Amino acid sequence: MIHLSNYINGELRAPIKKDYLDVYDPSCGEIYAKAPSSTVEDVEAAIKSAEKAFPAWSLTSLEERSKILLRISDLIESRLEELAKAESKDNGKPLWLAKAVDIPRAASNFRFFSQAITQFASESHQTTGRSAINYTLREALGVVACISPWNLPLYLFTWKIAPALAAGNTVVAKPSEVTPMTAYLLSEICNEAGLPAGVLNILHGLGPTIGNSLNVHPTIKAISFTGSTRVGAEISRQAAPLFKKLSLEMGGKNPNIIFDDCNYEKMLETTLRSSFINQGQICLCGSRIYVQEGIYESFIEDFVERTRQMQVGPPALESSRLGAVVSEAHFNKVMSYIALAKEEGGRILTGGHAIQPEGFEKGWYIAPTIIEGLDNNCRTNQEEIFGPVVSVMPFKTEEEAIALANGTSYGLATTLWTEKLSRVHRLAPRLQTGILWVNTWMLRDLRTPFGGVKNSGVGREGGFEALRFFTQSKNVCIQYD
Ligand code: NAD
Repeated sequence: MIHLSNYINGELRAPIKKDYLDVYDPSCGEIYAKAPSSTVEDVEAAIKSAEKAFPAWSLTSLEERSKILLRISDLIESRLEELAKAESKDNGKPLWLAKAVDIPRAASNFRFFSQAITQFASESHQTTGRSAINYTLREALGVVACISPWNLPLYLFTWKIAPALAAGNTVVAKPSEVTPMTAYLLSEICNEAGLPAGVLNILHGLGPTIGNSLNVHPTIKAISFTGSTRVGAEISRQAAPLFKKLSLEMGGKNPNIIFDDCNYEKMLETTLRSSFINQGQICLCGSRIYVQEGIYESFIEDFVERTRQMQVGPPALESSRLGAVVSEAHFNKVMSYIALAKEEGGRILTGGHAIQPEGFEKGWYIAPTIIEGLDNNCRTNQEEIFGPVVSVMPFKTEEEAIALANGTSYGLATTLWTEKLSRVHRLAPRLQTGILWVNTWMLRDLRTPFGGVKNSGVGREGGFEALRFFTQSKNVCIQYD
């Protein structure tokens, strides 16, 4: 049994109280590793180490910081196979997906921010009539916390850590206790890359225990969090009175709006992906599918048929389009939403049941599920399920589509399918969403602002937005006459 360690002051350390949590392989439902169940004493040690490392790291030249981050990126790339296997085993996602998306993106995160920081400039203003010049210094905040979820473990963990380090902060980072493995491997990589001791500290353990200690610790100047809206609200409640900077990337209930003038084949192929990839466990997955009445019937027929062809199976098999969902608790949550959808009057067009692949009967597999006939306001259409479950509804007009799409408390991502340019421009300003994809889905450019509106998020990550979040500005005003 592998015992993972915390990463504190450049060392792989056992938790002070020697308590461990079980880590499961979702493909077979078995425990395969133990991760530290860290306590407040470990949090203190990590924060002390980050505090000690801050002065030197924040004064390290941009070129040197950039070089180290680039080395981390290269090492992630060179260990692609091993990291992808670890991610797939830990999370249940297909190995091909971890190899194609999760791990390459983790490498890109470090590569992108190693370059972005060298291009990050501040403003200068000539104050005419007063003979003064104002310029802005952007300074690192100090010790910051990065807290991430289980659905894209290394991808999202590094999405926060890379800009925080690039901007000159030192970090205490907490991966999800459900998927700690690749964060642990990152500790080894950071040492190999020559990241100075204490610049990054990685703590494993339960959300409330470690999280609450970070949320209220006076040394932590900012918290970048990705996870559920419930926990985001809890972090705000605890951290706001201490005036910490907060960036909260939270849940979604994303609409796909499909007009009957769309490029049908492309839309169908992409909608299969946006509904079910990663077992529907991506915050950006579309879970409410609104289809204009002219193509509604044919869409239902084709979408159901193509969904039935998607194989659900062990993550290591190349043929598995879907693997296992992440945990037994999550499996039960998703299944309970399918039961709720039936109670609410939904018709299950396909799926709606668990799957037991041969030899993996104890794994947590769910058939991709399509539901029809639900009201927009029912719980199934209002609450985040975060599994391979979508609900399809017809609409007639643009006005109706806008009202349906905006009709939840969330506002993360929206996908719009139409070939009419004027329609895109009419709808874009009226949709309550942080990201609008038109005739595509999850096409990411790391320079763009990323985040949600309403209960999906506060603040933006990505590009210079992330570097702005992880720095504070200081205005210097000089009168020269
Ligand atoms: P979660 O909120 O349960 O946990 C996220 C992280 O917060 C974990 O590391 C957890 O240990 C930690 N945590 C728990 N309690 C805490 C507390 N009191 N203080 C501080 N940290 C605490 O989320 P999850 O179940 O791991 O992930 C799924 C959720 O993440 C979904 O809601 C999904 O939409 C969301 N998500 C959002 C985005 C986005 O970019 N908006 C991306 C991916 C996932």
